[in-house]
Order: sequence, then C-alpha cells, then structure tokens
Amino acid sequence: MKNVKVAVVGAGVVGLSTAVCIAEVLPYCSVTIIADKFSPDTTSDGAAGILFASEFPDIPLERQQHWFKDTFDHLYTIAVSSQASEAGVLLSSGYQIFKEIPSDKTPFWSKYVLGFRPMTDREMKRFPDHKFGQAFTTIKCECSSYLPWLEKRLRKAGGQIIRETVKDFQQLGRSYDVIVNCSGLGSRSLVGDAEVYPVRGQVLKVHAPWLKNFIRDGDGKTYIYPGSSYVTAGGTRQADDWCLEVNKMDSEGILERCSRLEPSLHGGQILGEWVGLRPGRKNPRVEREWMQVKGRQVLLVHNYGHGGWGITLSWGTALDALGLVRQSLHERPPKARL
Ligand SMILES: Cc1cc2nc3c(=O)[nH]c(=O)nc-3n(C[C@H](O)[C@H](O)[C@H](O)COP(=O)(O)OP(=O)(O)OC[C@H]3O[C@@H](n4cnc5c(N)ncnc54)[C@H](O)[C@@H]3O)c2cc1C
Repeated sequence: MKNVKVAVVGAGVVGLSTAVCIAEVLPYCSVTIIADKFSPDTTSDGAAGILFASEFPDIPLERQQHWFKDTFDHLYTIAVSSQASEAGVLLSSGYQIFKEIPSDKTPFWSKYVLGFRPMTDREMKRFPDHKFGQAFTTIKCECSSYLPWLEKRLRKAGGQIIRETVKDFQQLGRSYDVIVNCSGLGSRSLVGDAEVYPVRGQVLKVHAPWLKNFIRDGDGKTYIYPGSSYVTAGGTRQADDWCLEVNKMDSEGILERCSRLEPSLHGGQILGEWVGLRPGRKNPRVEREWMQVKGRQVLLVHNYGHGGWGITLSWGTALDALGLVRQSLHERPPKARL
C-alpha cells in the first residue's frame, strides 16, 4: 500500500528524475510532481544537454564523480537502446579546446566518458588560436524529448502531476509526509536561499546538418553542439542577469565566435534564439532537513542549484535524494496526518 505521500516540487530535469527514482524504487510512496512550468517551458528544455562538468569547490570529489557516473551510465543505457530517439538521448563526439594549457589535463569525469584522449597535432591544426585539446565521446540529452519521456515513465510508476505555484512549504506540508525541493532558481524565493542566483545563457539554434561533431572552448563561453534536429551554438554566462529577452548583440557575438571555430556555420540557417537562467550556486544543495508542521515532522529534501550542469548531474543527484528519503523514512516513519 502507498501510505507515504511525497510531493516533488519542480518539473525540470532534476525534479522529473527525482520523482521517477522515488516512484520506481519506493513502492510505499505515492509521488506527485507540483510545478508551475512543465516541458517545453523549463530551463532544462532549452539547454544543449551535453554531459561534462566542472568541479564544485566544497563537495567531496568522490560524490561529484558518482553524480557524473550515475547520470552517464543511466543515459548511456538509453542512448544505446531502442528508446534513444523517443527519449532524445544520443552519443556525441567532439573536441574541447584550450587557448592556454589547463592545469588539470584529465578532469575528474574523463574516465567516465568514452575514448578520452589529448588531441593530436594534426587535429589541433585547424584551431591556430588554441594550444591544447581533448577528444572524447559523451552524451547529449535533449530535454525537449527527455522530459516528456520521463513524465511518461513517472505516470507508468503511478506518479501524478499538478500544475501549481508553490508559495510555502509549511502549507504543502499539511498534505504531504515528504517534500522534495527541485525548484532550481525558484529556491531563491521558496526557501529564501540567497546563495542561488541566475546565470543567464543565450544560444542560437542553427540548421547546419553537415555538422556532426561538437566543439567547445574550454572557457565555457563558446560552443557548437550538433543535435538530432539542429545545432546549438552558444553562448553566454552572465551572472546575476535576470533578463529573459533575446539580446541581438549577444547573438551576433555568438555567431562571430562560433564561426571562427567552425567557419561553415556561416552557411547555416538560424532557426531561433533562446535564453535561459541557470540555477547558479557555489555548490548544488542535496541535503535534508525536518520541518515541524502542526505537531508532525515533515521531511524536506533539497535537490537544487546545479548551475550549468543540471542535466549532467541529474540522475546522480536524484539517486542521492532518493537515498535521503529512504534513509529518513526508515529512521522516522511518518505519523498520520490529522
Ligand atoms: C544556455 C544554457 C545551456 C545549458 N547547457 C547545459 C548543458 O549542456 N549540460 C548541462 O548539464 N546543463 C546545461 N545547462 C544547465 C541546465 O539547464 C540546468 O542546470 C538545469 O536545467 C537545471 O534543472 P532544474 O530541474 O534544477 O531547473 P529547471 O529546469 O529550471 O526547473 C525548475 C522547476 O521548478 C519549478 N518551480 C520553481 N519554483 C516553483 C514554485 N514556486 N512553485 C512551483 N514550481 C516551481 C519550475 O516551474 C520548473 O518546473 C544549460 C543552461 C543554459 C541556460
């Protein structure tokens, strides 16, 4: 019997992944996703969805490694299955190039992607402004397909979906035993976390079907990611900028920088422009606390603040959030709601 009521707040890649993990693994939980935006209107939907990461300063490296690996392994299984096209998960090969030789030539995630190696002199020749490069195959997870696919998987596991703006966890705690906060940037107002801030990103969607391999400048500001139906060319990283309007100068800058790396982009057709706000935070917050609601203890698990790596870490952090829910319910089984 499903006797533990769980509300997952947020329907981006983090919320949906977390809801699916709980609904599939804990049969005694009835899971409801509550969010004010769903696919195709979340930040996750517009992200290129390429898997690799930078290091967070205060999270043990081992934990970051398992977040990356768990997500990579989960998505790799989909990418090589018959579900790949419907789920929008594909393998993607290419280069990350650096103007200066990085201090760490083998990042922590290099052992989880496929075929990671330094680029050869012949490969580097086409990038005369760059001194060093890495070649590898990773995954591209296109959330405009992946989120609806996860939603379907959640419903199959008995999950429910409510479109609503959550104003207050105390109020929500009257109807649920467990709340999982996956509200991304929304956590700034929802839990008053001033450490969460927007990092604005603008990208172009370009029709250039001849491009097959990604190119990313190691500074993270210029990238070309071919996908299943268009190429994502980016980008910008503007901290504390809340503007969701397309900026024409940003678009011109993106096209100019990307075309320098990939001149054939000049022959592409721009299909659209998109702006999203990354849920920036020094470190993602994946932890639990207890709330006192009308004499009952309600479990509140946080899973937000993934910055520019929410898709890369989505399944790994969802499994951590699941672990926190399971462990907490074991320690303190919920009392009946009055
Ligand atoms: C241009 C750009 C490119 C990117 N490229 C990549 C990439 O290549 N790889 C990668 O890993 N990441 C990338 N990212 C980052 C990635 O998009 C984010 O880290 C990720 O989308 C965060 O997911 P999320 O589920 O936490 O947040 P979101 O997708 O923003 O979802 C938040 C959810 O919470 C809900 N919510 C918030 N507040 C409330 C409330 N009060 N009541 C109800 N619901 C609420 C929202 O409606 C929404 O459903 C990129 C981001 C941008 C902008």
